[in-house]
Formats: sequence, structure tokens, C-alpha cells
Amino acid sequence: MTEQTQVVDLVITDAAELLTCAPEAPDLIGRLRGGGLAADGGRIVSGYRGRRVIDASGKVVLPGFVDSHTHVVFGGDRAAEYAAKAAGTSPPAGATVGITGTMADTRALSVAELVQQALPRVREMVASGTTTFESKTGYGLSRESEQRLLVANALLAEAADARLVSTYLGGHAIEPGRDPEEWTAEIIAQLPEVAGSAAFNDVYCDDGYFTPAQAERILEAGLAHGLAPKIHLDAYSRTGFAEVAARLGVVSADHLNHTSDAELEVLAEAGAVGVYMPCLDYAVAHPKPLDPARLQRAGMEIALATDVCPGCWTTSMQTAIVMACRTGGMSVAAAIRAATLGGARALGLGDQIGSLTAGREADVLVLDIPSHEHLAYRLSGSTVDSVVRAGAVVGAEGAR
Ligand SMILES: [Zn+2]
Repeated sequence: MTEQTQVVDLVITDAAELLTCAPEAPDLIGRLRGGGLAADGGRIVSGYRGRRVIDASGKVVLPGFVDSHTHVVFGGDRAAEYAAKAAGTSPPAGATVGITGTMADTRALSVAELVQQALPRVREMVASGTTTFESKTGYGLSRESEQRLLVANALLAEAADARLVSTYLGGHAIEPGRDPEEWTAEIIAQLPEVAGSAAFNDVYCDDGYFTPAQAERILEAGLAHGLAPKIHLDAYSRTGFAEVAARLGVVSADHLNHTSDAELEVLAEAGAVGVYMPCLDYAVAHPKPLDPARLQRAGMEIALATDVCPGCWTTSMQTAIVMACRTGGMSVAAAIRAATLGGARALGLGDQIGSLTAGREADVLVLDIPSHEHLAYRLSGSTVDSVVRAGAVVGAEGAR
């Protein structure tokens, strides 16, 4: 081997498997045996000698996980409701129940308290390998409290060792007692002040939430303010909104439990990523869990996400992979691809993160497992050896 003179920030060597997750990889994950990589200035580079070296022998190296659908900022919890539902009984009087129950707990918190409650969850996300996550508002459901959630997102972005992508979800639910049309108009009126502090505008379109006509108005108004659209679609009923969502250019369509095959094809044709959240389907004992094979047959790129929220308390993309494979029947390679490049594409960041290819940000995981199949095989515990965000080791023990 010739002497290498250029010194870079970080080199990871001798991986048992290196999963590049390169976009065109025929095996979905670009698996190389015995690979390594280098990072400099926060990006993947080719080469050289490292100021810092991580020995990945016997381990698997892959892109950091991208969790493209989370509601990680909220107040309180719904543990009493969860326990009652699991046991087939009614929640005790006064327990926090449903999105609007969490609304009251969230409104009671200051920005500092919101951040204080969310930060441990975010730290768990990073410790289990997430290097980019989306964070939605939507538990405030008033102009003032939704603004506080956007500020909380900005503060979390500074505090977290991961990239945060902020999404405005004023259209998460209709405040109890409010007229849905008036409520829709209020959400639209908030959009000018949201622009600049969120990347995406999201709406919950379903029976009992926003109608297709209301969702269309909210997403169109967001587009006029430079907010890219996302959609919570057809989780509990088929709304018929998929074609309009495709026409509006939704970056992702999430849930999709009741969306028809023909509608999935229209969404795929429009380039929308399908976001699959098996932990949510499990946590709510969904009567019609999404079959990800339907998305694959329609030609959709799939993103795997935790959907961490008061109704589905998981912060781990490793758990989402476990569930996607065993309850959803995905191959391990397809689940890993969905947890990395798929997630990046669901956030419009597919050319910046999600793959270990030259020029992309050096967001890298080193997992202490001998082959990638162990990610789906080990039902509990974190396999993380090191988490690298933009070339810097941020999680777990780091280089040992
Ligand atoms: Zn959601």
C-alpha cells in the first residue's frame, strides 16, 4: 500500500459489512464486505489517513437512520389510556385520552418545559442511531401554542446531536367544540408566520379529522408560503384525497392503511414517498395494518419511521426495523434502505444524507453486529457502537 499523505477528520476501517445504501444499489443497500470510509469537513470523502480512526472490524457500517415522521414534542403521556385499551377496559376518569387530551397537557407547558420533556426522547433517538429526525407541531392546536412548538423545535435543533427538520401540523385535529371550517381558516391564517420556521406543512386527512377539501385548502395555502406539503392520509378510512395530494406534489404520504392500489400508483408516479410506521400500527392495534408490499408493488419509495408520539412511545428506528420485517414482511435490506435513504427522500434530503457516497454528509452508524440481518433479528437492546453526525462522533461509546 502506498503512503497516504492527505489527513482527514475521521476514517472508519475494516467493517465486516459496509452498507452504502447508494440510490442505484441493486441489492437496495449497496453491501460491501470488508469496507471502510472517510469523512472530512463533515462530508464523505475518499481516502486517506484519519486524525481519528474507528476500527469497525466485526461490525456493520451504514448511514445514520433518518426518522421522517415524529411527534416527539408534546406534554404528558397517554399511558393510562394505553393500558386500558390493551386490557379492553375504559381509561380512568380524568386520564389523558387522544390527540385532544394531549393538547391540554401540551398547552400547559412553557417552551422551556416542552424542550425539557422532549430532549430525553431525542437523546434516546440519537443513542439508537438516528442522525436526522423530523419533528411535527400539532399538539398545541392554537395559534399561540403552535408557535411555542415551533420555537421548541428550533431550540431542540440546537440542543440535539442530530439534524431536526421542522414540520407545521396545525391541521392535526380539530379543537373540540370548534367549527371545522372556521378552524381550517384559522390554520391557514397562521401560515404566514409559520413560513421560515418550518420546512413542511402537514395535515391529517381522515374521517373525523380534516376533509379532502379542507386538507387541499391548507396544503395549497402552505405552498403559497413556500411550505412543502406532507399528508397524514387514510389511516382509518379511505378519503379519496390521494390523487389531489399527488397533484399538489406531496413529498410524502404517511400511514396509507386504506389507500387503494390505484391511488398508491398515482402517488408513486408523482414521486411521493410512502411513510410506513409499523410501531404505530402495533401500538394502536390497528384493524388494518399497512402491508408495505402494496407500496412496493405500486413502485413507491418507502420510508420507515417511528411515529414517536403520546400514542406510540418508541424512539428507536431499530425497533421500527424489527417490526417492519416481522410484522410487515419486509426484507431486512428493504427495511434498512427505508430507514436511511427512504427517510432522507421523505424529507426532501435524498441528495444530502441517507447514503454513504462521496459528497453526502458524513452521518454514519457503526453497529456491533456481524451482519446486517442482526438488525431485524435482535428484538431488544441497542446494537450501536458509534454514531457519527456530520463527521463527528456524537453517540454511544464512540471509537474504542
Ligand atoms: Zn403522525
